[in-house]
Amino acid sequence: GQCVAVCPTGALTEVNNTGLVWDELNKVDKTVVVQVAPAVRVALGEEFGLNPGEITTGKIVSALKLLGFKYVFDTNFAADITILEEASEFIHRLKEGKNLPILTSCCPAWVNYLEHHYPTLLNLVSSCKSPQNMFGSIAKNYFSSKIGIKPKDITVVSVMPCIAKKYEISREELGNNDFFDVDVSITTRELSKMIKQAGIDFLNLDDEPFDNPMGESTGAANIFGATGGVLEAALRTSYEWLTNENLENIDFKSVRGIDGIKEFKVNIGSTIINACAVNGLGNAKKVMDEVKSGKSNYHIIEVMACPGGCVAGGGQPYHYGDYDKIKARSNALYHIDKHSEVRKPHKNPSVNNLYSEFLGEPYGDLAHRYLHTYYFDKSNFFECEENLAEATE
Ligand code: SF4
Repeated sequence: GQCVAVCPTGALTEVNNTGLVWDELNKVDKTVVVQVAPAVRVALGEEFGLNPGEITTGKIVSALKLLGFKYVFDTNFAADITILEEASEFIHRLKEGKNLPILTSCCPAWVNYLEHHYPTLLNLVSSCKSPQNMFGSIAKNYFSSKIGIKPKDITVVSVMPCIAKKYEISREELGNNDFFDVDVSITTRELSKMIKQAGIDFLNLDDEPFDNPMGESTGAANIFGATGGVLEAALRTSYEWLTNENLENIDFKSVRGIDGIKEFKVNIGSTIINACAVNGLGNAKKVMDEVKSGKSNYHIIEVMACPGGCVAGGGQPYHYGDYDKIKARSNALYHIDKHSEVRKPHKNPSVNNLYSEFLGEPYGDLAHRYLHTYYFDKSNFFECEENLAEATE
């Protein structure tokens, strides 16, 4: 009925976009670029009989090449950019003493919930686009010129753990008059379907590395896929930028784990930062009611709609609420982080190169043009909460 037509997440009937991807791959005049979100690499293996948390990043890159993608890149590259932008914005607000707490903006189901239920708090949500959309914007506006083609001749496909990401890419402010940042968003499960349709023997693939320059990332980008990870990554960069000191112990362990509301304090120089990571929209409601009533003393809040974060997203192999599975996937992301050579987003050489070649300063004019967005008061819109709940199962 009415809900199908207006449901913002498209979750009532789970749209299958694999046909659209095949169509794009068959177009001779298109350069098809794909990005893979962090949570995908620790879960896709389950569709092929592997255990939850088995890391198959290299096999995923090989499979995507075999499917015909010209460039296989990493959403993690854009997750690092997101941190540079969000940490800059956070520091800016801290110094002004205004618009605090800053609320993260990478989860579209959460942003949509905020627009519907807390329009008076829209000044608090970060203006950063999500990593998915920052990636698309940089692929079209920067990478295209590196390979000498027009932005509209690039198709950006994303592989996400998430159904709400399909809705996010259709938000008309995310792009410009000529093109959207991202053209097609498929889920982890849809990618597994495509691999099976193509008859690829996934388990026996060799590992391949991501292409560059949009394939390089830090350990911090991986943990975006687990609840608390965006906050931890943001604090690693904010700490060093605010103090000009080297952060020795970069593991913020109190923000890890699957509790619904995790709060902690961190001393950054002479300032005590009150931080909170929330997952699940019910928990978000509790925390936002406090913020709205003026009772909250947080400076920064991360919100993810899915209980457990993106590793437990609605586009992942079904987990049926099995927390052991969700934990295994999260642990795998922390394992990747721990064993990464570079673990602080502002130390990503390819990202720093992007700023010096193209964007200028983080949070500067060009960064605003390509990496930031705005939000709408949707409190009078028809609500489709059942579907949101389903999108974030
Ligand atoms: Fe999507 Fe869930 Fe991650 Fe939000 S928390 S971005 S709804 S997978």
